[in-house]
Amino acid sequence: MGLGDGAVAPVMIATAPVNSPLVSVLGGGQLGRMLALAGLPLGIEFRFLDPSPVAGAGTLAPLVVGDLGDVDRIDELAQGATVVTYEWEGVPADGARAAARHAPVRPDPRALDVAQDRLVEKETFQRLGIGVAPFVAVDERAELERAVDAVGMPAILKTRRGGYDGKGQHAIDTATDIDAAWEALGGVPLILEGRIPFTRELSVLAVRCLDGDTRCYPLVQNEHADGILRVSTAPAPDLTPELQAEGEAIATRLLDELEYVGVLAVELFEHEGRLLANELAPRVHNSGHWTIEGAETSQFENHLRAILGMPLGSTETRGYSAMVNCIGTMPDADAVASVEGAYLHDYLKAPRSGRKLGHVTVVADTPDARDERLHAVKEVVDLHLR
Ligand code: AMP
Repeated sequence: MGLGDGAVAPVMIATAPVNSPLVSVLGGGQLGRMLALAGLPLGIEFRFLDPSPVAGAGTLAPLVVGDLGDVDRIDELAQGATVVTYEWEGVPADGARAAARHAPVRPDPRALDVAQDRLVEKETFQRLGIGVAPFVAVDERAELERAVDAVGMPAILKTRRGGYDGKGQHAIDTATDIDAAWEALGGVPLILEGRIPFTRELSVLAVRCLDGDTRCYPLVQNEHADGILRVSTAPAPDLTPELQAEGEAIATRLLDELEYVGVLAVELFEHEGRLLANELAPRVHNSGHWTIEGAETSQFENHLRAILGMPLGSTETRGYSAMVNCIGTMPDADAVASVEGAYLHDYLKAPRSGRKLGHVTVVADTPDARDERLHAVKEVVDLHLR
């Protein structure tokens, strides 16, 4: 019997070859989505776990909907996986450890323990001889004045856990700010940090594979507004071999200490010609999105290569790049397309104030041409936080 008018033929979905590796990912946001976009051409299969049924990675691969600490959902995610990884540093470390019953979890969840607590993170940096802002743990109101005396003003009071993109922070510029800072954040474990009058913010992205082989991308310069990354420039302007070596030494010490496998990002302050570490992200990172078009091997592909035990790819640049985040609104796609050397990435997320919805990368053969293209993209992308 033929199909009648208006009838729709059933869609046949091809099943994947049985021997392709399966990467199960805790988290299914834009970072997971870009991991899948890098891995699908390599024949890698993906499965994601995310609390949102409309998580962006779910348009590319099967999505398990559930809490990232829900052991039943984690079982569902990790069963049959070649390797389990994560795309968010807020993943409950116990959840990541639960996945290890099914497959190796890479990077080791120990990296989550460090990244999730600003005090442990700063102590780890210090123990490894990595420079940091002066800091003191603060648990009680009575400790705050003493902490301010110890680190000096201006300072920043931060929650030890759960802060991101500048959230969970309060400036203490003068003694009159102390009450308000405690009012805003007191009651949970805190850390007070001296505010560094840095020259600029940089980050280093590095990848380490199973046998310990490590590669670093060139240092990136980052500009933030309201605590959210707006623009990354790669390589960082005026990057000297000494500064690159210092950044690489910081990343390598952390990678070796954590016996890390995968991509790690370290956010840095350049201050008086030296680097201080602010925080680490045990995952692919926003300041590495330029590598998709601007490096021989993207951070996403290199993360997959590392966790699957493959040889790492080159981290050499292809020209000069910059990346602009699209926050709160997406630019007109035609307007971006009209800028030569510009690449639009739309995460297909519902617009919301302060939300990262996509990014645009520009690549050019010279720094001047890159800056011209960056200028043109900035005209198109609304750089005001909405
Ligand atoms: P964080 O959440 O620690 O990454 O902080 C967000 C932003 O606040 C950083 O990118 C810096 O611009 C600024 N910031 C955080 N800590 C410090 C500090 N100790 N000194 C100066 N600026 C800081």
